[in-house]
Amino acid sequence: MLKEKKWLRENYKMAKIPEAQNRLFKNVFVCKRCQLKIKANPVKILEGKVKCRKCKKNSFRPLKKK
Ligand SMILES: [Zn+2]
Repeated sequence: MLKEKKWLRENYKMAKIPEAQNRLFKNVFVCKRCQLKIKANPVKILEGKVKCRKCKKNSFRPLKKK
């Protein structure tokens, strides 16, 4: 889990969070555990500062368009 977070952070640093990507995901993330959708700043998600309202976990994945 930590490795994944670090990898994400490095990726974001390199990409500098392109605005297009921000728009694509609309800053909406889904809790990996309970699937609750939350709106948050991606940087805060990656830093683990955002916690799920429901299960208090801080592992999220970006909401992908289908
Ligand atoms: Zn949750």
